[in-house]
Amino acid sequence: MPSILDWIATAPLEELRKHPAHPQNRPEKMLRYFPAKSWIPDICQRNYGKWIRRKIIDPGIIEVVSETGEKLYLVKVVMPVRVSTSTMYYLLDLADKYGIGWIQATKMGNLVILCDSEDKARALAKELRDNGFVVGGWGSRLWNIKICSTYLTCTTAVVDAVTIEKALGEELIKYFYEELPAKLTIKVSACPNACGGGFDAADIGIVGYPASVPLMEGWRIRVLCPPRSLLEACPVGDIKMITDEKGRPIGADIRGMTCMCCGRCHDFCDAIAYEPSEIGVMILVGGKCANTGAGPRMSRVIIPFIPAEPPKWPTLVAAIKKIIDVWVANAKKGERLGDLIARIGWDKFFELTGFPKPEDYIKPLDKAPGWTRYGWQPLYLRRQDENKRYVGVRVPTDLMALSAALFEIP
Ligand code: SF4
Ligand code: SF4
Repeated sequence: MPSILDWIATAPLEELRKHPAHPQNRPEKMLRYFPAKSWIPDICQRNYGKWIRRKIIDPGIIEVVSETGEKLYLVKVVMPVRVSTSTMYYLLDLADKYGIGWIQATKMGNLVILCDSEDKARALAKELRDNGFVVGGWGSRLWNIKICSTYLTCTTAVVDAVTIEKALGEELIKYFYEELPAKLTIKVSACPNACGGGFDAADIGIVGYPASVPLMEGWRIRVLCPPRSLLEACPVGDIKMITDEKGRPIGADIRGMTCMCCGRCHDFCDAIAYEPSEIGVMILVGGKCANTGAGPRMSRVIIPFIPAEPPKWPTLVAAIKKIIDVWVANAKKGERLGDLIARIGWDKFFELTGFPKPEDYIKPLDKAPGWTRYGWQPLYLRRQDENKRYVGVRVPTDLMALSAALFEIP
């Protein structure tokens, strides 16, 4: 009797397809899609297209009313990016106990529990708050601090977004309850891939990045990753191969001349690491997805580099609080952060916050007239400049000099 593996390896295709375990003979496994309606609660199906009124009756509860007279109460639990299984079961039990047994995960990473009576919704909110959960963030409030999955699942992470979320959350928790001029979203991504958002459409975005070229232990490359593939991983061709006397690849090295600190090589190979003293975050503001006001818009960098200061991130937290304070003090009702900046202008916004303008961080490459165009400065050099200004750590002047030579500065 051949083993099952031998049988799979040698049996003709027709015979394999007749086996009862083959997906073709198990129609339930062939189902790719569930009808959309199976994901929609009965009350929502009954009232589809009939909702006529929506009212925020508590920072964490919205009442929606249908023309049929039916009402639904949406209780919003502000969630961190990760919760334990037992916490999730606890919340699901509450959805059965107080709600109609349905939950919804929102784009900002919150959990909405659906209830069919105000009393039950308020009792649910009370029980959650008594147990330390934040129930709030509807309407003109902080909707959440949404972060990417960072170190838990990702090898590209430059900073630990979870500590940023915690540090900011502790300082900004009152904004889940207090009225703000308009909705506020904060998104944190631990690297420029920005899975958590930040570059795109957040009122305030925080994006981690390395301010210097990654460090490489060349001899480990041979053991941990194929040098040829590593070369191909670099989008700007900044990695060179080290070969033995017979021309065989034995390692690799980062030149550092054109490296734009994207971290792709770090993602690719465990022998490459970020310099821990030179990692940090940038802050962006003014993005939004909504078509209210002037419509959707991208965020813009306002602070190019703040060095990593986990776990409390005091400089970053202070900067974010300053941005929110300026917005609260100057915005009209309903005006989101980007709308305020569109009305008063970037110059005024920088004046109000007291932050330097981004171009002030960048040193002209050459003092000669006509050479003050920042666009000529390689990103790598800009980051060294930012580093020097903020962290005061080493600037590899030899690399700067070489870079200048590469660009043939007179
Ligand atoms: S933003 Fe970067 S660190 Fe965060 S999950 Fe995406 S790739 Fe990973
Ligand atoms: S960080 Fe990006 S640009 Fe720099 S060497 Fe690695 S892959 Fe190339």
